Amino acid sequence: MRLRRSDCGGRRQLSRPAAIFLAQSSARVHLFVRSQKLSDSMSQYLIGRIEAHPRIEIHYQTRITGLSGAGHLEHVEWRDDALEETRSGPIRHVFVMAGAAPRTEWLEDSFVLDNRGFIVTGPDLAAFAGGDQWPPKRPPLMLETSVPGIFGVGDTRAGSVKRVASAVGEGSMAVHLVHRYLAQCADQYASAQHAQMIPASVTVSADYSSRTPAT
Ligand SMILES: Cc1cc2nc3c(=O)[nH]c(=O)nc-3n(C[C@H](O)[C@H](O)[C@H](O)COP(=O)(O)OP(=O)(O)OC[C@H]3O[C@@H](n4cnc5c(N)ncnc54)[C@H](O)[C@@H]3O)c2cc1C
Repeated sequence: MRLRRSDCGGRRQLSRPAAIFLAQSSARVHLFVRSQKLSDSMSQYLIGRIEAHPRIEIHYQTRITGLSGAGHLEHVEWRDDALEETRSGPIRHVFVMAGAAPRTEWLEDSFVLDNRGFIVTGPDLAAFAGGDQWPPKRPPLMLETSVPGIFGVGDTRAGSVKRVASAVGEGSMAVHLVHRYLAQCADQYASAQHAQMIPASVTVSADYSSRTPAT
């Protein structure tokens, strides 16, 4: 898309690489950043490129507070919290980038999370915190969380690709992995039965969960 001579506005973390892309075809790109600096997770190289770009204007501690126009966007209003003043400008396109925080605080007591709150799964658990976060003797299955039998997929999983197709793909993999986990449980149960020489009065049915008394 070739943008008009007018300006673009963008917000938040993902908008920073996008700002460089948009500046190729825009007269000016305004980057509104609510905090006092560009993200800690961004490379210094990228930060340097953005700060040095002649068509990117960074507004720190700033929030978009209004959009207006007749039929299409014409003006954007923003609030500079540092200067405590509200300003506006002729901006015809706004790109809002949101959703990069995993919001997994409610899981942190039960699951192993990385230092940014993403759920650690599969082989990564072995390397995490000295490997003592995974109690079973068997290695974790792919996508299995630190709670055996519970699987993590999609954006909140540490190391995931953060794309729709990969989230959907991981979801379908998880179904297969749950079946594999249940099959392992059934095998273990059968072995334990055999080891303890329990009379064959109890069997595990095909759905791996119910116990059916033998007739
Ligand atoms: C601005 C933006 C643009 C993107 N553009 C693209 C793109 O062009 N192409 C692409 O492939 N990917 C894109 N992505 C990434 C893509 O959206 C994600 O990778 C994908 O949606 C991940 O799917 P998910 O199921 O893991 O998470 P989500 O789609 O985020 O689904 C999680 C769901 O869980 C719900 N939820 C959260 N907490 C709870 C709770 N406690 N209880 C119950 N429900 C809860 C949420 O409301 C949400 O509905 C974009 C993402 C963003 C933020």
